[in-house]
Amino acid sequence: MNKKQRKMLIRILIAAALMILLSLLPIDGYLRFGLFMIPYLVIGYDILKKAWKGIRNRQVFDENFLMAVATLGAILLGDYSEGVAVMLFYQIGELFQSYAVGRSRRNISDLMDIRPDYANVETGGKLEKVDPDEVEIGSVIIVQPGEKVPIDGIIIEGKTALNTSALTGESLPRDASEGDEIISGCINMTGLIRVRTTKEFGESTVSKILELVENSSSRKSKSENFISKFARYYTPAVCYGALALAILPPLVRMGFMGLSPEWGDWIYRALTFLVISCPCALVISIPLSFFAGIGGASNAGVLVKGSNYLETLSQVKCVVFDKTGTMTQGVFEVSGVHHSSIDEAQLLEYAALAESASSHPISKSLQRAYGKSIDRTRVTDIEEISGNGVTATVDGKPVAAGNAKLMNRLGISYKECHHVGTVVHIAIDGAYAGHILISDLVKPTAKESIQSLKKAGVTKTVMLTGDSRPVAEQVASELGFDEVYSELLPADKVAKVEELLAEKSDKQKLAFVGDGINDAPVLSRADIGIAMGAMGSDAAIEAADVVLMDDDPLKVAKAIRISRKCLRIVYQNIYFAIGVKAICLVLGALGIANMWMAIFADVGVMILAVLNAIRALFVKKL
Ligand code: ADP
Ligand code: MG
Repeated sequence: MNKKQRKMLIRILIAAALMILLSLLPIDGYLRFGLFMIPYLVIGYDILKKAWKGIRNRQVFDENFLMAVATLGAILLGDYSEGVAVMLFYQIGELFQSYAVGRSRRNISDLMDIRPDYANVETGGKLEKVDPDEVEIGSVIIVQPGEKVPIDGIIIEGKTALNTSALTGESLPRDASEGDEIISGCINMTGLIRVRTTKEFGESTVSKILELVENSSSRKSKSENFISKFARYYTPAVCYGALALAILPPLVRMGFMGLSPEWGDWIYRALTFLVISCPCALVISIPLSFFAGIGGASNAGVLVKGSNYLETLSQVKCVVFDKTGTMTQGVFEVSGVHHSSIDEAQLLEYAALAESASSHPISKSLQRAYGKSIDRTRVTDIEEISGNGVTATVDGKPVAAGNAKLMNRLGISYKECHHVGTVVHIAIDGAYAGHILISDLVKPTAKESIQSLKKAGVTKTVMLTGDSRPVAEQVASELGFDEVYSELLPADKVAKVEELLAEKSDKQKLAFVGDGINDAPVLSRADIGIAMGAMGSDAAIEAADVVLMDDDPLKVAKAIRISRKCLRIVYQNIYFAIGVKAICLVLGALGIANMWMAIFADVGVMILAVLNAIRALFVKKL
């Protein structure tokens, strides 16, 4: 409990004690009124103040106004203890709610407990703790066992196991040693490592994630917007309804029936009506449910950038995947060199040099296959043509490395490859020099991920790739995709997604899952863009609506399941709260429910709704 909450608790206790005491005392008249005003003001002064402010700012109809009118009305009618009690219970409800919100906020930040407090730098043989913000790119930091990795970088010395569970939800530790990239937010478990930083703190994974989580609540879902709109019309409607209930029946009784008007009785019913109608449970529990849903998802390694995306995710019926790096590991092995007019090793050297500046999985794989360090001064004029390949000048000679499209584009005739695999044709000095056949492995969970999507009610799975047709079809049939489209340029992928978008109804949403390399435009074009591998590509984090913290495609189905659960809770709360309110309103208008019942119904519904909302925080491990 924080200071404000503790203060409120004290106010509640004092007011409750005074109220009980006063109801036992045999006092009457003005003295009774005056004494009851003490607990009333103790517990309600801030509500009265807020209501008054609302009136002055011409934003009259809110919960504060409802409570102020209801309680002041009760007091004017002489029901002092009821006036105090309504205020008291209202404040108890508010306290409970602020506690719950605080709890789940803290829960989220606990789950996301990845903010590093310091970075260790070595100066003159001594370790010094500095603010991670002050560490420049390229500095060497030291991470000891048990410490969080504060900044992204590359391990230059040491060997350890990393716990990435806060980032990925994955509980198995991951081994890392010299030369491996390491991202901030992991916990170093076993060995001391030296890391050369490759980013500033503000650009590091941990900062990006925290930023995402902090901003996520500002993107409102349709249901949330619906609730605030609803409250805008609902509250005034209820107030006028109450006014009508207070005035019309007595007038009718007097005018048409010749009965006594019984003003007090009807005003009391109208006030009860007001108390019942307070929409707090809805107004509070819906955003809280989304908030908890986003928190639960991040615990599972799925970052959702806003509650609107959580809502869209729950309606996904068609999932479109990119191939390379998304369904496959994007780590190609060279499986052959064919038709080479020069020495095979030399061909590979030219390819690796030409590819030296690209971050495409193919480029990285060729560089790795080459194995030696690359002298970048030998390469100039590098140009990457997405979906085609690269051209560059190596040792003064123009070199092109890419697929058949690239060769056609350059007007170079090439030899077809008769093996299934991704082919990188190489041309040197305008002449065909042979091709390198490389092959990729599908991710271990790829097949299961398609099956679990089907189980989660996704009706269509599609694979899009820029790779050649035989490879694409082999992978697609192995994994069980419904449809596959190959040899697509990035722009073709957008067009294909647009086609798929046009085919389906508005209610069924389409998700695109990609690794952010060559597919950022599609990520933003789909109803919802899901990026793989926040473990690297910044473009993906920017363009996507949902970021999977590791490269596991199985998380897509999990994300959909989490979103469905959250939305289910949201709707449960909406129906439950509106249902109970409707029943109570009728009972109140008929004079069956009194103000005590009203306040219990209100606070009770709210507490149940809030507890239900918090359920969204807990995600079953799959
Ligand atoms: P995917 O859709 O499978 O992720 P991309 O759109 O990234 O594939 O690339 C499509 C094809 O373009 C690759 O299969 C490859 O033939 C070629 N290509 C793209 N970038 C490169 C590169 N840097 N070097 C060689 N070939 C490339
Ligand atoms: Mg790709």
